[in-house]
Amino acid sequence: AVDLPESRPLPAAPAKLPPGMILDKDGKPYALFRTSACRACNSKASFSQWTQQTKFSLKSGVGAATGATAAAAAAAAATATATTRNPSEAANDCPPDVEALGRSTWTLLHTIAANYPKTPSYTEQSDLKTFMGVFSRLYPCWVCAEDFQRYVEKDQIRVDSRNEFGMWLCKAHNAVNTKLGKPVFDCSKWEERWRTGWKD
Ligand code: FAD
Repeated sequence: AVDLPESRPLPAAPAKLPPGMILDKDGKPYALFRTSACRACNSKASFSQWTQQTKFSLKSGVGAATGATAAAAAAAAATATATTRNPSEAANDCPPDVEALGRSTWTLLHTIAANYPKTPSYTEQSDLKTFMGVFSRLYPCWVCAEDFQRYVEKDQIRVDSRNEFGMWLCKAHNAVNTKLGKPVFDCSKWEERWRTGWKD
């Protein structure tokens, strides 16, 4: 369930979000029916379903809007058209959904771990801590970021060595895997996956 601030009336029926759909934290861009979906917090499938609903409601005139709201609605409908016109092209040149963003981000983070020194200097340790702190606040999927911040509060980031950081990151990734019902990764194999390649 998503909490809307009390000052905002609940959206009209056509703007009803698909189950599990996450809203933009700040509601921007100010969109049809005063809700907008966070693209980086949702899968392409659910985002596309939502924009199709938006398109339908525009055509049918249900919950019709004017001015800026209508313009935002038109933009949402255009997005829906663009994503359905040529699916293979859309898959490659659209902004990332929560899954594509997550995969790319984990690749970056685990690759940072793989290239982190075995015995890092004070500056390197400090840089990594700073980077992870900023990362946890700027990650574009806001629900993911808030959960990740909570995780870091409970299990503080380890930066003493490559193996410490690699293992910490593997456990942090596993916490997300568990939350999403994905298999837990065997952390004794993190270096094989991300640094040395699999042993034969
Ligand atoms: P991913 O989980 O992206 O993993 C990529 C590859 O990493 C896998 O193929 C595997 O080879 C390897 N791997 C898997 N687990 C580990 C591990 N523990 N250690 C080392 N390597 C591993 N999505 C949501 O829907 N909700 C969320 O709240 C959410 N929070 C996230 C928080 C963060 C900080 C990040 C970076 C991503 C988050 N995601 C979230 C995205 C989610 O974790 C996945 O990236 C996304 O669902 C795609 O999953 P995937 O199955 O392709 O593999």
